[in-house]
Amino acid sequence: MKIFTIIGARPQFIKASVVSMAIAQKKGLTETIIHTGQHFDSNMSDIFFDQLGIPRPDHQLDIHGGSHGEMTGRMMIEIEQVMLREKPDRVLVYGDTNSTLAGALVAAKLHVPVAHIEAGLRSYNMRMPEEINRIVTDQVSDILFCPTQTAVDNLQREGFSQKPVEILNVGDVMQDSALFFAKRAVAPKGLDQAQGFVLATLHRAENTDDLQRLGAIVNALNEIHQSIAPVVMPLHPRTRSALASAGLKLDVNVIEPVGYLEMIWLLQRAGLVLTDSGGVQKEAFFFNKACVTVRDQTEWVELVTLGANVLVGAQSRSIVNAVTNNLNRAVNDSDQLYGGGQAAVRIADHLLRS
Ligand code: UDP
Repeated sequence: MKIFTIIGARPQFIKASVVSMAIAQKKGLTETIIHTGQHFDSNMSDIFFDQLGIPRPDHQLDIHGGSHGEMTGRMMIEIEQVMLREKPDRVLVYGDTNSTLAGALVAAKLHVPVAHIEAGLRSYNMRMPEEINRIVTDQVSDILFCPTQTAVDNLQREGFSQKPVEILNVGDVMQDSALFFAKRAVAPKGLDQAQGFVLATLHRAENTDDLQRLGAIVNALNEIHQSIAPVVMPLHPRTRSALASAGLKLDVNVIEPVGYLEMIWLLQRAGLVLTDSGGVQKEAFFFNKACVTVRDQTEWVELVTLGANVLVGAQSRSIVNAVTNNLNRAVNDSDQLYGGGQAAVRIADHLLRS
């Protein structure tokens, strides 16, 4: 079976690393990788292929920038040409980016079955581009690999159990990645003595593109760094340019985006994680750290219910208070909410049978 994997953004490289490994170990499955180019800086793309041993993409489309419609449209045009030439048996897409949507739509229109990894997640906030991408991708997929029971429940509520599709709770491939690469963690340059800091990441459009929210988060981070604990922040390129155009200044330990092995090291040594990232919320949990999430909703509601993740929105005072109350609080991953690291193998097994 010839599988076409379509990826393009940082979290997708991390997710695909373990699934590609599992596919490579299955006789009967071959994988062709298409990199759309959505993320292209070497520290947002190449470093993950190098560090995580992901096979080099067979097709590099180099499409990035522009509006959502333009980017997705250009991706669709080029993905369609490759698919028409290579005739895959199945397409595999991950998560909720424009690359996910473009790959899923092209495949569905060419009647190539689509498997969606990270299916069923919902924030119920239709202003998030990611929410639109998830909903549409789920609608055109015939295998929905869900990471959690919550995701399965979401799909069932939307009537997916009445459709001729398979819904499987395989667990979260990000837990597979975290477990697999944990022992290979490396300190980012100059930080090898760091400990007990607040690890901060920020990149969601709802924060970077809203001046009021961005300003409040920056104020909170500056105050935390000055009077609570040092803040280490690998800065996403989108956030860097949003800060520059808003004339906002972060007075924290800002570093360039790091590789995954460095990110794991930071997660292992942090006293708390502050983020608006989907993936990083769970990684905090995998490494037993409390997480303060600067969003109004999360797709990973089970962590909020468990008390491991505190959803604070984007008000300075709430952010600072949540950090003060949760710094160095250990959380326990004993519930195996995310499948315990077997997701990639389950996915490859199922693809072989499908
Ligand atoms: N990550 C990384 N280097 C960084 C920041 C994040 O390797 O400098 C990893 C992080 O550990 C997680 C993934 O990138 O595995 C999350 O990606 P991102 O926050 O960009 O996207 P989201 O998960 O919100 O879709």
